[in-house]
Amino acid sequence: MEQTEKIYDVIVIGAGPGGMTAALYASRSNLKTLLLERGIPGGEMNNTAEVENYPGFKSILGPELAERMYESTMQFGAEHVYGDVKRIVVDGDYRIVEAGKKTYKTRAVIIATGSYHRKLGVPGEEQYNGRGVSYCAVCDGAFFKGKKLAVVGGGDSAVEEGTYLTQFAEDVNIVHRRDTLRAQKIIQDRAFKNEKVSFTWDSFVEEIKGDGQKVTGVVIRNKNTNEIIEKSVDGVFIYVGILPQSDAFLDLGITDEEGWIITNEHMETAVPGIFAIGDVRQKLLRQITTAVGDGGEAGNRAFSYIEDLHDRMAAAEAAAETAD
Ligand code: FAD
Ligand code: NAP
Repeated sequence: MEQTEKIYDVIVIGAGPGGMTAALYASRSNLKTLLLERGIPGGEMNNTAEVENYPGFKSILGPELAERMYESTMQFGAEHVYGDVKRIVVDGDYRIVEAGKKTYKTRAVIIATGSYHRKLGVPGEEQYNGRGVSYCAVCDGAFFKGKKLAVVGGGDSAVEEGTYLTQFAEDVNIVHRRDTLRAQKIIQDRAFKNEKVSFTWDSFVEEIKGDGQKVTGVVIRNKNTNEIIEKSVDGVFIYVGILPQSDAFLDLGITDEEGWIITNEHMETAVPGIFAIGDVRQKLLRQITTAVGDGGEAGNRAFSYIEDLHDRMAAAEAAAETAD
């Protein structure tokens, strides 16, 4: 392991909207701030077509919002380096962040690692992943010009991304396990008005079929009648929810039974000096606005934490000198 010389005040893990905001607040407060990210800054915004619920923009493409956030984040001297964080070790008043062969020493850590897509777990899903099975309409939608698609799920992602896919596909069938959608009303209304979008209610996709090379169809079972139908499609987009990206932090004992990180309203976890924000946190509303709000709070709180730490260290030094 190679340990960097520098001691940071704050290390932010993950450069989605939450992490970027935390880095912005911390660096603007003159804290020595490092942003560690294992991919492209922007997080889930890079996989989102249009964002219409972020104030300041009537509508903006997700990747463009990501770029703008990154530019404003970096203006106050935060460092950004590539790093895939595997562990945080508590060492007295320091926190050691391990990322690949490198370790970084810091006084506070803000975890902003977001979530990942839940798999459907049906036959054909693994085999045809990238060959008709996708979890990202923005990334793969353009491969399906004039084609037929199935979208699985009934939340914001399935319904919004399903509607987005109609600019490429000629037919998008949303297969949902209930007869009402979980998606926000405005997202539902748009889908209902779109002639290329249809719904298969109360139904599960039980298998994804293919010809060995690519997807050719889905097997759908109606949960009320047990009727099974096979539908020809060229692609399947799966949006059945999200899971916390928190494996690297499970040994800290700061997660609930599903792996979401538990914090108080100041984004503090049970371990002093370790904060968590955004989608990885146990909370009800997972949005860009709420990730940004969490980031501001954590950046600010980290500043207070480090001031207290400095005060404590100075008092301890003074006490030691007096004792001498
Ligand atoms: P993320 O955006 O998930 O970012 C986390 C970052 O951490 C990633 O860049 C990841 O690479 C990095 N990371 C993870 N683990 C590690 C590690 N171990 N080491 C280093 N880096 C790591 N919300 C809205 O408000 N409006 C919308 O229109 C909207 N559309 C959406 C569309 C889709 C398809 C999806 C899936 C979500 C959408 N959301 C939308 C929700 C929104 O994108 C999320 O709530 C938001 O991005 C969460 O931000 P975050 O910073 O917590 O995490
Ligand atoms: P979600 O809200 O958890 O919805 C998941 C959907 O998949 C639900 O409809 C669920 O059905 C269904 N589902 C779960 N497991 C299933 C299974 N095994 N088989 C079949 N269906 C299954 O997840 P999401 O839509 O990905 O959204 C994630 C977060 O991002 C949310 O907080 C959301 O608000 C946010 N987001 C926001 C926007 C926006 O603001 N424009 C856009 C996208 C996402 P049930 O309904 O029966 O539970």
